[in-house]
Amino acid sequence: MTVTFSIIAPIFNELDNLPELYRRVQEVMTASGETWELVMVDDGSNDGSTECILEMAKDDSHVRPVIFARNFGHQLAVTAGWDYARGNAIITIDADLQDPPEVIPDLIAKWREGYEVVYAVRAEREGETWFKKTTAALFYRIVHRITDIKIPVDTGDFRLMDRKVVDVLKTMHERHRFPRGMSAWVGFKQIGVPYKRAARYAGVTKYPFSKMLKLALNAITGYSYFPLQLATYFGFTAAGLSIVAIPVVIIMRLAGHGAFLGQATTLIAVLFLGGVQLIFLGVLGEYLGRIYDEVKGRPLYIVRQGPEK
Ligand code: UDP
Ligand code: MG
Repeated sequence: MTVTFSIIAPIFNELDNLPELYRRVQEVMTASGETWELVMVDDGSNDGSTECILEMAKDDSHVRPVIFARNFGHQLAVTAGWDYARGNAIITIDADLQDPPEVIPDLIAKWREGYEVVYAVRAEREGETWFKKTTAALFYRIVHRITDIKIPVDTGDFRLMDRKVVDVLKTMHERHRFPRGMSAWVGFKQIGVPYKRAARYAGVTKYPFSKMLKLALNAITGYSYFPLQLATYFGFTAAGLSIVAIPVVIIMRLAGHGAFLGQATTLIAVLFLGGVQLIFLGVLGEYLGRIYDEVKGRPLYIVRQGPEK
């Protein structure tokens, strides 16, 4: 069966949001008069969301349930959505209704104009903590600055992509992924549409600081060698400084100056450089661990129950 629009919702313990999500998506898509499906990817929920999704799928064939064997994380749930979507245009949306389904027609309008990636830009954010907003703003700006591809700032995964684009994304098998980076990396004709990001309809965020940090690391290591290059820059600077410092200290000593005597100076230098070296060893480890994960070639996610692809 072919449908025009596939809407993908990654779901991790969103029981109280599901009926409302379904209702609003159904309302918007019915009004559009197009054929559609709602791919609900259950990312190892344990609050009854799974049963709720299966129940909805039984009642309405628009709902396409993909149930994971365990929690694999938001990025991989979105990836599974790409794999199972059958539409000519694929829309990713958060299940907590922070991305209002009512914005979908705006995305569709741009797609009809010929754009192949239409990403929604958060012009305003509602109901989020000061900490979340600040760290998010910082995250988007750091990633923008140090990565090689220009990921638009303040965009999440809420976006519409043409079938052509998703077919390319499906050939990219990286494990530690940053979907919105991938969709910027592939190119194509892209445009942003501003929208107001709403507060969560129900429940609490499933993205604690630790997960945000992991995502930031994926984004940076996935698209930039900058952290590795930093070691080179630092090494040259430290070596350059010592080349200048050595003759200066020798001359000072010969002139009878008492500076830089004693253990403290030596200790500080050793500890400082030791610390810097360990940090860069850690940076190397980040990249190395990622290579190891890729080489193992394990499946990106495991589906316990789902339709034919
Ligand atoms: N999510 C997921 N797996 C996870 C964490 C989150 O599928 O391990 C889903 C979640 O159900 C929601 C979306 O990803 O639909 C965004 O998560 P959340 O709203 O908690 O993040 P925030 O909007 O606070 O950044
Ligand atoms: Mg949310």
